[in-house]
Amino acid sequence: MIKNIAITGGTHGNELTGVYLVKKWQKNPALVKRSNFETITKLMNLQAIKEVRRYVDQDLNRSFGLSELGNDELENYEVKLAKELNSELGEKGSEESKVDFIVDLHTTTANMGLSIVVSNPSKITWRAIAYLCKMEPALKVYRWKGDIENAFVDSMAPHGFAIEVGAVPQGVLRADLFLQTEALIYHLLDYVEKENNGDELNISDEVEIYDHEVLVDYPRDEERDIVAMVHQDRQDKDFTLIEKGDPLFLTLENETINYDGEPRYTIFVNEAAYYEKGFAMTLAEKKMLKI
Ligand SMILES: [Zn+2]
Repeated sequence: MIKNIAITGGTHGNELTGVYLVKKWQKNPALVKRSNFETITKLMNLQAIKEVRRYVDQDLNRSFGLSELGNDELENYEVKLAKELNSELGEKGSEESKVDFIVDLHTTTANMGLSIVVSNPSKITWRAIAYLCKMEPALKVYRWKGDIENAFVDSMAPHGFAIEVGAVPQGVLRADLFLQTEALIYHLLDYVEKENNGDELNISDEVEIYDHEVLVDYPRDEERDIVAMVHQDRQDKDFTLIEKGDPLFLTLENETINYDGEPRYTIFVNEAAYYEKGFAMTLAEKKMLKI
């Protein structure tokens, strides 16, 4: 039984779809109300939202690692905010967390369409995703496996995921992507209501996923400055196969650098927020996952 779900927006202050969906639902709570659980809506990083920037001191969506949450010596804005949010929506790892399911709303400058990033998998999370894939066949599912502990917002709850929609510039609202995200949330709420009711959902027992393999950085010089950009033939090719010999980067001298690896799918291609993180795209394998 899922007793409540939190829909969070503005974790990144310049991703306006989530910010304005949460504002809309806070004005009209009936839109996200269902019969057998509570829906919480929450604007996350108020200072970053005000300044229309991703974060103030550090990325809030990387601030929910257990070691960081437990460290009293770290003092910056997002570290303190993460601790407050964890008391309200967590606590992470607790047996009796205050919120059962968190869905965190994001946008991307990459051409990812409507997609889900899963990093906190549970049986309920996968069943919710399978239901959403049935309702929205264009939905893509990306299973993220970073090399560090999962420190995303949704990791505070036992179940949940992030929604990524794009392409949309930072600080911009696009009506088509706003509507798609909104519709997906209503499907999710319907799923929880039906699951709580014990309704027969006819959910598939497998989900097509893009399974994270590796981050690909830009070519750089000795000073770590970028010396090439995403090749024009790879631009906007999210969830698209890349094979050995396909153009990957274009240097500032107009030289093409080709991909030299196993066939994989490219995701988060040329995402603006990842220049500072040091990756140009990620590579994933497509597979069917038994849930
Ligand atoms: Zn984001």
